[in-house]
Amino acid sequence: MAGITLPFSLLIAIATMTTEHLQKQLGLSLPSPLERFTPNWPGAERVTLWVKRDDLIHPIISGNKWRKLSQLLADNAATTQHIVSFGGGFSNHLHALGWCCHQLGIEFTALIRGNYGASPTPMLADLSRWHANIRYLTKLEYKQRDEPDFIAGLRKQYPGALIVPEGGSQQDALAGVQSMLTECQIPFDKIITPVASGATLAGLINGAGIIDGAGMHSSVSARQQVLGIAVLNGVGYLENLVARFLPAKSSCDWQILHQYHHGGYARTSPALLTLCDEMQQEYEIPLEPVYSGKVFYAVKALLAQGAFAAGEQIIIVHTGGLQGARTDPDSRS
Ligand SMILES: *Cc1c(COP(=O)(O)O)cnc(C)c1O
Repeated sequence: MAGITLPFSLLIAIATMTTEHLQKQLGLSLPSPLERFTPNWPGAERVTLWVKRDDLIHPIISGNKWRKLSQLLADNAATTQHIVSFGGGFSNHLHALGWCCHQLGIEFTALIRGNYGASPTPMLADLSRWHANIRYLTKLEYKQRDEPDFIAGLRKQYPGALIVPEGGSQQDALAGVQSMLTECQIPFDKIITPVASGATLAGLINGAGIIDGAGMHSSVSARQQVLGIAVLNGVGYLENLVARFLPAKSSCDWQILHQYHHGGYARTSPALLTLCDEMQQEYEIPLEPVYSGKVFYAVKALLAQGAFAAGEQIIIVHTGGLQGARTDPDSRS
């Protein structure tokens, strides 16, 4: 029996890596800091605020995109020669995955929504530097990205490649997001994150339930709630995206707030841009206006409204993504 067990376990060890091993290989700083945040904002004195600085995990692969990819890469890095994925011209996901593939010696093909051939974004320029294959899809083609026929076509075109959905948002993304939650060694009442594809929020919801059940936090508050800030216009739509990742019954209390998207995905307002500046100038926390800026904006507004109970412990997740805010040097001229 032992003769069979040993080679088999060796085989497993070769075929999969632990996420710890992968983190070391990629030079990531984990766990990320959980910092006290004491802004001079009306209402902030009534609660305790923390920022989970996932933007500091790595200068290139930052934030929730590492969390969402960690399990997938640990499971496949040793056996996969080629990864194919999808995104827009500024995609934080493609940027993170492209860099990981480059570091790990995996061929990477990025399927891009729209044609930036004439003026590549800084993100696309990075992908080129990392030897990714870049293919531009029409918006019509891109719409089919999750359809079985379209995926089957890609499988034929890229035999043996691992095809990763947009945003890295698949079921095993949730495990990595949960690991972020286990790094937060304080009993908290609220944890707040941006919502686009919903996988990050779903990971927090799942994780909060598990941590509850395992009693890992000595005093889980009865009012513990996972709060999502919608970064796009999607009442109902976003709730469905999140729910499709969750078990039918979740004990966790969660909610998405829809008042803080500033007109839609990647839309901004002068007030939002001012807040991003203030966060950098006053608190030395860099934000971008697509995701993390909207979350801090929402927190400031909620504090002013007295939306939190006195004494609450609130964790704001800084999901990173600053590369996406770089502007295209060509478009400025
Ligand atoms: C992709 C992204 C999000 C959204 O995460 P979802 O899991 O798609 O909801 C939030 N913040 C940043 C910085 C991102 O890049």
